[in-house]
Amino acid sequence: MVGVTPVDRLPDWVTLVRAPNPGPMTLDGTNTWVLRAPGAEFATVVDPGPLDDGHLRRIAAHGPVQFILVTHGHADHVEGAARLSELLGGAAVLAADPAHTIGGDTLDPGESLGGNGIEIRVVDTPGHTRDSVCFLVECGNARAMLTGDTILGRGTTVVAWPDGDLAAYLDSLGRLTAFDNVPVLPGHGPALTDCAAVAREYLDHRRERLDQIRAAVAAGATTPEAVVDAVYPDIDPGVRFAAVWSTRAQLDYLRRESHPGSWQLDRL
Ligand SMILES: [Zn+2]
Repeated sequence: MVGVTPVDRLPDWVTLVRAPNPGPMTLDGTNTWVLRAPGAEFATVVDPGPLDDGHLRRIAAHGPVQFILVTHGHADHVEGAARLSELLGGAAVLAADPAHTIGGDTLDPGESLGGNGIEIRVVDTPGHTRDSVCFLVECGNARAMLTGDTILGRGTTVVAWPDGDLAAYLDSLGRLTAFDNVPVLPGHGPALTDCAAVAREYLDHRRERLDQIRAAVAAGATTPEAVVDAVYPDIDPGVRFAAVWSTRAQLDYLRRESHPGSWQLDRL
C-alpha cells in the first residue's frame, strides 16, 4: 500500500514500549506509547497493554505520568490499566468507556487535554469497537495520531461486530483522511508516516471487500461462513473468527444499505 510507509525514527518525544504478547491479532505485540515533551516532568501513557508485570514496570520506569489514556476497551490494550495506575502512584486512567476509566472523567469526543508541553485532542473514531477513539497529539510543531486498532501499522483491522460497526468505521476513516502527513502511532505494528494516506487506503480496501462480499452473496453464499470461504479462501485458521466478525459487520452494512431503516439481522 502506497501510504503505508513505516517511520524510520520516532520523534524524540515519543517512546514505544512493546508488550510481550505477539500473536495473529496483536502482530508483534501491543504498542504502549509514552509521550514526554522535551524537558517536561510528566509523561502521558497511551494504552497500558496486557496485565504483564514486566511490561507494566517497563512503562512505569518512564514515570512520573500525568495520565494514562486508553484508545478502546479490548483487553490487549487495557487489561494492565489498574495495575499500571497503581505502579504510578494512582495516575488517572482516561477512556471513552466509563467501565475503563479510573480516578478521572470519561473522555468526550473533541475534548482537549493538555499540560506538560503536549496538547491532546480526542478524535471520535468508533467502528473497530463502539468506544474507539484516536488521540491527535501536538508537541511543539510536531503532531502524531495515536490510532489504537482503528489503523494498524501493518495489514488492516477487524470490525469487531456486533460491538464494532462498519458504517461508523467508514465514517471514522473518512475523518482520519483530514490528517495529511501526520504520523500514525498505531496500537500494533510499526509507526507510519501519513495518517490521511493510510486512511484512504483502508477505505479503498473496505470498498473492495464489500464488492467481493456482494459478489459472493450474488453467487449464492447465504451464511457468513460461506462468505468467508468465498472471500478469504486462504485464511489462517487462527484468525478465521476475525474474518467471520468482519464479514458479519459487512453483511449487516450491506443489508442496511439495501433496506434503509432495517437494523435487524434476519438470516444470520
Ligand atoms: Zn482492539
